[in-house]
Amino acid sequence: MISYPVSFVGVPIGNREDITRRALAVLEEVDCVCCEDTRNTGRLLAYYGISKPLISLHEHNERERCAAVAQRAMAGEKFAVVTDAGMPGVSDPGYRLVRELQERGVEYTVLPGPCAVVTALVGSGMPSDAFFFGGFLPVKTGKRRRALEKALNANCTSIFYESPFRIAATLAELAELRADARVCVARELTKMHETYHRGTAIELSADFSAKKYKGEMVLLIGGENAPREHETTES
Ligand code: SAM
Repeated sequence: MISYPVSFVGVPIGNREDITRRALAVLEEVDCVCCEDTRNTGRLLAYYGISKPLISLHEHNERERCAAVAQRAMAGEKFAVVTDAGMPGVSDPGYRLVRELQERGVEYTVLPGPCAVVTALVGSGMPSDAFFFGGFLPVKTGKRRRALEKALNANCTSIFYESPFRIAATLAELAELRADARVCVARELTKMHETYHRGTAIELSADFSAKKYKGEMVLLIGGENAPREHETTES
């Protein structure tokens, strides 16, 4: 079934059942799976009764591993590339390997799967015809403030990955910049405690400073110049 030397495969972002039949078929068939954390991917594969040689490909060894994977793929081995969650290359390793394969003329394909950005956007109910994804919100104060200001003035919904340890401070900063900005924190998507916290910046800031919410989070910010939530962009 696999005709490509390398397949980039989307995997669940929490609920293990969120994996396509095609993804499982490819994972069954490849010679080797490149993954961020071999224990984590080992558990996912074991859940589906799949046993494969695993090699790690993470931000610290990505550069050297890319060349080795490309060479082995050119010699005839078939690879699947996964990360700990969601789509490879989205705030995760993958991009460098794609470039390496392009440069060496090695064929590859991408098997689409869950992605926290898109899941959060759809579930938030915020305008979704156009959006900006900024990856992880910068940690440095100045850069972070500029990213928040840009999001508040944008003409679309802006989306960031954010740490549970910083979210309360980020919401407080947002409330200081624009108290009535529309905000959503999408938490623990596809998992038991999945929650969409929706409201104005000042409301969510009060909630998140009173209660220490845990888990994985996506922050969505409505832009001043984005269409209002009841409007469509048709016409
Ligand atoms: N490649 C992944 C994707 O396609 O979404 C993203 C990986 S990035 C290293 C991890 C970040 O994604 C987390 O810190 C969190 O912000 C977000 N994330 C991943 N899974 C999530 C979930 N189930 N619920 C909420 N956010 C999630």
